[in-house]
Amino acid sequence: MSNPPLPDHYTPPDLDPSREHQAVRGIGVSAGYSIGVAHLVDRSMPDFPEYCVTPAHIEEERQRFLDALSVSRQQLRDVRDRVIQQDLHNPELLYILDAHRLILEDGMLREGTLAYIDQKCNAEWAIKRYLDDVTTLFLQMDDICLREKQRDIEQECKRVMHNLLGARPEQFYAFMHPVILVAEDFSPSDTLLMNREGVLGFVTQMGGPTSHTAILARSLGLPAIVGAPFTTHHIHAGDPLIIDGVDGILHIHPDDATLTDYEKRRRRFNALQKELQETPTGPARTKDGHRILLKANIELEEEADSAFRQGTDGIGLYRTENLYMNRTAMPDEEELTGIFSRIVQTMHGLPVTIRTLDIGGEKQSEVFWNSLDHDTPNPALGVRALRLCLQREPAVFQTQIRAILRAGVHGPVRILFPLVSDVGEVIEARSHLDKARTSLDEEGIPYLTDIEVGCMIEVPSAALTADIIAPHVDFFSIGTNDLIQFAFGIDRMNSAVSYLYQPAHPAMIRLLKSVCDAGHDHGVQVMLCGEMAGDPRLATLLVGLGLDGLSVSHTTLPVIRRMIHSLSYQDAKQMAEELLISGTTDAILDQLNTLVQNTLGSSMSDISQHSRKGPQ
Ligand code: PEP
Ligand code: MG
Repeated sequence: MSNPPLPDHYTPPDLDPSREHQAVRGIGVSAGYSIGVAHLVDRSMPDFPEYCVTPAHIEEERQRFLDALSVSRQQLRDVRDRVIQQDLHNPELLYILDAHRLILEDGMLREGTLAYIDQKCNAEWAIKRYLDDVTTLFLQMDDICLREKQRDIEQECKRVMHNLLGARPEQFYAFMHPVILVAEDFSPSDTLLMNREGVLGFVTQMGGPTSHTAILARSLGLPAIVGAPFTTHHIHAGDPLIIDGVDGILHIHPDDATLTDYEKRRRRFNALQKELQETPTGPARTKDGHRILLKANIELEEEADSAFRQGTDGIGLYRTENLYMNRTAMPDEEELTGIFSRIVQTMHGLPVTIRTLDIGGEKQSEVFWNSLDHDTPNPALGVRALRLCLQREPAVFQTQIRAILRAGVHGPVRILFPLVSDVGEVIEARSHLDKARTSLDEEGIPYLTDIEVGCMIEVPSAALTADIIAPHVDFFSIGTNDLIQFAFGIDRMNSAVSYLYQPAHPAMIRLLKSVCDAGHDHGVQVMLCGEMAGDPRLATLLVGLGLDGLSVSHTTLPVIRRMIHSLSYQDAKQMAEELLISGTTDAILDQLNTLVQNTLGSSMSDISQHSRKGPQ
């Protein structure tokens, strides 16, 4: 995913000394860095006249509305044609577009608005009243998907309103110079119709990783941040901005140092992307023939396809908590089975590791409102993840396990238990697995009988007793995001102590080595799925420590594969042995930098310093 090339005449934005540098955190949904000026897209409801129509003019007013409706439909058809012509063949986008077309074709919108016109409202007022009715209705509904639907209806009503008012729609899709688009939200046609040559990236106040802005940004390879709070209030047209789509940070009026830093990052990122496009996919093997499993971490069903196309060895971590977040009703077994099965099918026979619910701590969910503690001082150390399932939510756990087992009829599935602190929890979790098997047998529902069972090693007590846990599992997946926070006593959400997030610290290296050896002594496969695996320097160390495989974000897969291909396993092993007795993190990082530079050349080692440094 590289940023689009900048035109020759483009110069970086001037800084306005009267405005202070501000950094806003949102959700980075498409990796990369953009530097440019803001272009605000105002999609609020335009001002419109409200008046009563005389009975003699009602028919005319009805026709005016019906004409605007048909113009709106034609506009959407044009967008669709353009998408197909431009070969932007993303089925999801076409689906979104079709859903919007259906809204305009829906009799409810037509009849609902006409009914208000019949009550003597002018057409603009009538459609606004119809929209208000729909909004009230949808806001009473619990289902988050239905609320999304309300947003779609609102966007289409605004389109009709613009057409009634004779306003030119989609005015923002031709730009004099490259811009970063900032909006509360974009409609699918906004995003599809814009002249992408002139767009450097997107920032929206609303939306999540599955919003259409996010989907489009990823498919175009444009950096994007969604869910950036208050941006449309903070940002003025022409403000200099930086999008850090890797870490989800938006810089407004960046200072000199930040601008220089990000210009370097962008150059490196683009150079790396170019280089990686030339990297062949296929099994990750060091140049002296040692095979390393290279799998993908995913959080959303939609990411599975991209992971598959990157040539992964499977899904190493599917974080299922998203399925319980941003909604007010629990997913049932059928919904979960459907989602898990589709992911398994997408992977065409490659193993999919599904982690059971890791809710709690920083991952909050309305559906668990009654069972999560809200006023405990340290939620990351409280009743969360497996603890929550075992102590308070055995029925939810059963449902999830049954769905995982059932998805296994479509291909190899592995089940992974998070936040294990003690072997007793693994034994108890396995008893729930047995119970699920028994109930499925009794009900005659087919499922995967020989599912592989693993546990996350992310709590120091589990790491230190890995030899005791190993006989009860088939694989370990080391979760260094949490393991580092617990080993160093730092809150992974607290930026004031993030300097202590040190994956290359001797303490971590020793801990990782001991888990790896304990696993291997018991014939247990040892994977690592924390963010550190996505940094080529640290991945080198992990290969040298003897891990069987790494699971990384699918956008990082090509870099890590490239690193593994260029590495000598013997050298990596020897280096790891030396580092085990090295003194400081800095000394260790220096050695790793040198090795990566010698192996991959400078562009790749440069980017490694800016790859995700783990959760902040
Ligand atoms: C980890 O802790 O390293 C991990 C992969 O799990 P999560 O980031 O979901 O807590
Ligand atoms: Mg974790």
